[in-house]
Amino acid sequence: MARYTEATCRLCRREGQKLFLKGERCYTNKCAVARRSYAPGQHGQNRKKLSEYGIQLREKQKARRFYGVLESQFRKYFEMASKRKGITGENLLQILESRLDNVVYRLGLATSRPEARQLVRHGHFTVNGKKVNIPSYLVKPGDVISLREKSRTSPKFKAISEITGGKLVPKWLEYDPENFTGKVLTLPAREDIDLPISEHLIVELYSK
Ligand code: SF4
Repeated sequence: MARYTEATCRLCRREGQKLFLKGERCYTNKCAVARRSYAPGQHGQNRKKLSEYGIQLREKQKARRFYGVLESQFRKYFEMASKRKGITGENLLQILESRLDNVVYRLGLATSRPEARQLVRHGHFTVNGKKVNIPSYLVKPGDVISLREKSRTSPKFKAISEITGGKLVPKWLEYDPENFTGKVLTLPAREDIDLPISEHLIVELYSK
């Protein structure tokens, strides 16, 4: 399965902001963005002003990197979003938020989206009682996402709970920490998505 192989922190430095791809480390002073807040590479410290196209491109790359989605998949999501009723940019973010790996992260069952993706791939979760190991699986209202019984006692998830315990679960989801189970109450509205993404720039880019 295709995935990013570029050094993770370089992605944040390239976008000039934290993408929170490394869990706990992102909140410490070891964070590469906190230490070197300029783009990576030889010319990272003297980048030119971006053109309109460059600004739109960076916004799309930032969104892709937040969610860890490759270009071809991202394009498919855009096509899906443009066929749905409503505002295309908001539909796009709603689809990205509905990915199972993102939902696992939002529920606090992983410390970052990349970790959530790996845990989903390793078969630790069920959706409506059935094992699902596809990170791009799109959840829908009423779906119940659970950590599998045999994973609940794993030291891995104990450590994750210690880091994410008390994390605010967004209001479109419900979480029962006793049973490591979350429920999708509704699909997220734009105001429920706290990421600094200007989705209209992505729509402009793909509409050229
Ligand atoms: Fe990004 Fe986290 Fe690395 Fe900081 S520590 S640069 S937020 S992945």
